[in-house]
Amino acid sequence: MLTFDDGPHAAVATEIPRILDGERVKALWFLNGMHFSEGPGAAANRAVLRRLARHGQVFGNHSCHHYRMLRLAAKEMAMEIGECSRQIGAVTGQAVGCFRAPFAQANDLMRTWLRSHEPQRVGWDANSLDAAFRRPHSGISKRIVDHLTGADGGSPMADGDNILMHDRPTTAAVLKVAIDDLKRRGFTLVVPTAATDNLPHSAR
Ligand SMILES: [Zn+2]
Repeated sequence: MLTFDDGPHAAVATEIPRILDGERVKALWFLNGMHFSEGPGAAANRAVLRRLARHGQVFGNHSCHHYRMLRLAAKEMAMEIGECSRQIGAVTGQAVGCFRAPFAQANDLMRTWLRSHEPQRVGWDANSLDAAFRRPHSGISKRIVDHLTGADGGSPMADGDNILMHDRPTTAAVLKVAIDDLKRRGFTLVVPTAATDNLPHSAR
């Protein structure tokens, strides 16, 4: 299953669904509330988010501001997570069923809060490394797929793994070739049907 973090950004979040449509797949998007709730770009990003929702994409919580959460006091932590889910629900009408910690940093304060509230915490199983590439070039999709499939000497994805990608122009630019390559190598992408469906073993 594909997951896209750190959006929505109007420019990218319109391009990625177009590619996903062509591949007949949907993704799980871990959103930051600030992009569609604050600042000059919020209205455009909100419009894109509504379109993503109508399009059948599924959303998870990635906190309001993508702070380093371990520095936060209990009240700020609750605000960062709780408010993000509320904002996503207000715009999309979706109940948010999962949370991915920014920078994959979690502590007891976070775990305690998540235990007593939805959403559950979700990590990622397979890092596509897409965020390492600043500008698109022809070698990126092969590097990504080699990494995901273990062809670069690492461990390959397993059934049910979720793939970490980002709502970034470079990712959008290489996405179609990467998906086609994954399919050619025998992988099938799973469609998230609801916020908590198809979530991986890494949920913890
Ligand atoms: Zn992130």
